Amino acid sequence: MVELPIKKTVHAAPPRTERFYDLTGGSGCRRGLADHFGDMGIAKPTQADAEAAVRVLIEWAGDDPSREGLIDTPGRVARSYRELFAGYAVDPREYLKRTFEEVGGYDELVVLKDIRVVSFCEHHMLPVIGRAHVGYLPANRVVGISKLARVVHGFARRLQIQEKLTADIAEAIQNILEPQGVGVVIEAEHSCMTLRGVNTLGSTLTTSRLLGVIRDDPRTREEFLGLVRGT
Ligand SMILES: [Zn+2]
Repeated sequence: MVELPIKKTVHAAPPRTERFYDLTGGSGCRRGLADHFGDMGIAKPTQADAEAAVRVLIEWAGDDPSREGLIDTPGRVARSYRELFAGYAVDPREYLKRTFEEVGGYDELVVLKDIRVVSFCEHHMLPVIGRAHVGYLPANRVVGISKLARVVHGFARRLQIQEKLTADIAEAIQNILEPQGVGVVIEAEHSCMTLRGVNTLGSTLTTSRLLGVIRDDPRTREEFLGLVRGT
């Protein structure tokens, strides 16, 4: 598909929180730590700081970070974290600003299923792995399909709870694309439950956020949920 120039510029306010000095990054906090450190006039931790922290954790676990097999591990962990938490460096809403208005009268649901979700729970910093299904009913404008997946990945690569992730994705699409309705369903396995604690192997958490006609119109809602379920 040829990408057309942007027809309309949407000025969405960047996400802000009142809790500028909350270094814990609670569930209400959508700003990156880099912003927090900037606000406080404190330098962001360096790669060396992160590696030192990993060495402490290895020692605390009971191993020797200087032995051969572990010597390069802190560097690898820090680099992995940079990639896995890349969501702090992007505003996923940006992906939705390039839209197409020539939709040829298309006025049916657009649903992208089985978008892989790799995230981390903010309570244990353990992986949350699952699938997201994202749909919307266009109102004159559509967005490139790959952008929906990028929005999911952008929000997922942060520390959070699944409920907030689901809501963030739905609200970004609603606010930027302004469709008639949005539906987001996420099914995910939480390592903090399946690897430790209650050890509920194989259990998944399903969360959904439905907005506009996908929430309010029973037929549209059923159609969306049916497409998500594959029925
Ligand atoms: Zn957890």
